[in-house]
Amino acid sequence: MPILVMKFGGTSVADLDRIANAAEKVKREVERGYDVIVIVSAMSGKTNELVNWVETTSPLYDAREYDAVVASGENVTAGLMSLRLQEMGVSARSWQGWQVPINTTSAHGAARFMSIPRANIDAKFAEGFRVAVVAGFQGLSAEGRITTLGRGGSDTTAVAFAAAFEAERCDIYTDVDGIYTTDPRISPKARKLDKIAFEEMLELASLGAKVLQTRSVELAMRYNVRLRVLSSFEETDENSGTLVCGEDEIMESKVVSGVAYSRDEAKITLFTIEDRPGIASAIFGPLAEAGINVDMIVQNISEKDYDDAHTGAVTDMTFSCPTNQVARARKAMEDAMAAGLIKYDDLIIDTEVAKISVVGIGMRSHAGVAAKMFEALAAENVNIKVIATSEIKISVLVDRKYLELAVQALHDAFELDKA
Ligand code: ADP
Ligand code: ASP
Ligand code: MG
Repeated sequence: MPILVMKFGGTSVADLDRIANAAEKVKREVERGYDVIVIVSAMSGKTNELVNWVETTSPLYDAREYDAVVASGENVTAGLMSLRLQEMGVSARSWQGWQVPINTTSAHGAARFMSIPRANIDAKFAEGFRVAVVAGFQGLSAEGRITTLGRGGSDTTAVAFAAAFEAERCDIYTDVDGIYTTDPRISPKARKLDKIAFEEMLELASLGAKVLQTRSVELAMRYNVRLRVLSSFEETDENSGTLVCGEDEIMESKVVSGVAYSRDEAKITLFTIEDRPGIASAIFGPLAEAGINVDMIVQNISEKDYDDAHTGAVTDMTFSCPTNQVARARKAMEDAMAAGLIKYDDLIIDTEVAKISVVGIGMRSHAGVAAKMFEALAAENVNIKVIATSEIKISVLVDRKYLELAVQALHDAFELDKA
């Protein structure tokens, strides 16, 4: 029988009624003739609670135990979903990651899939079971320990199963009815897209649009999974939601197709560092060792023109990272200074910034997008602190208090409310 993967996020399984509602959707697909693999998240708020319990018990926690605790939220939902389906007369069985087994790397808290052998679940389907309910977000390391995939990881579990089982489609059911030009909770003018290209969704996700985990889009692109995002709260059919697909399936594409934001950014500046070969490596080497996810980097030019050897030349270096890594980043810089690797006059941290990005594959062949973006922000008196560009995106760092204003101004400037 053809296989369908259906994933339900936290708000879609937030209580027993919602689990029952999701189960109805699964039953309908079974009646249409599919064998269904259901991927479930933890009930809404559960993962946050578990993370908080871990951090309160042990601030510098052992990541293996973090995973042991945090993976448990999904186990509860998988069992409950399976029971609900059984009550509805659908033959279902739940699966925790280790039972499949979902083999991953040993990078606790950010594990990656190694393999998903089909044999166990296929054997159950062959026995006549119609639904396999799999706990999302978790896996098993080669050492035999439970791993998790990083926040939002159930999306990636869903896509990985769709690839491994050659599913006809991977449907991601969530609390919005598709992918929008920007977060509909921030901009009332956000417009739902019928289709979006893998590459655009990949950028939007990595720039903060949490509707899909970045890694899930990467996998879908690589294995050509038909990936769809749709509402678990509405009646849906095969045309509902937003399809994430290859560029060739999209008829017209706008220069800019979406605006993404990331709220929890921090900006760190090292003032008056030496401008000499090797200085960037002396700064970013220790940051990498400390596990800091450095994002944007700006190095100023030297204060004066010096000879070829740059004797005595000084400059400033600014970079951004997530706010919750600021303490570790500061320590890495202070340690590097104490060890004589770098020298700076001052280290200034700004934890009140946000990153706003515009994304579109049309940017490859259109000039003037940056100018238009800066003009729109200037018109709202929003000061830009750092700028970064790539082939299909432009990102700026601004004061966090301007986040909503900036997103809306850019959405208007690029007329994203119009089809
Ligand atoms: P789930 O619990 O189902 O995984 P998430 O909260 O992880 O759901 O993701 C859905 C949320 O993503 C939406 O409620 C919405 O606020 C947010 N979001 C951010 N950017 C977008 C976008 N461009 N389109 C749709 N939703 C978006
Ligand atoms: N429950 C996990 C989280 O909240 C995984 C997921 O829902 O995708 O991050
Ligand atoms: Mg999610």
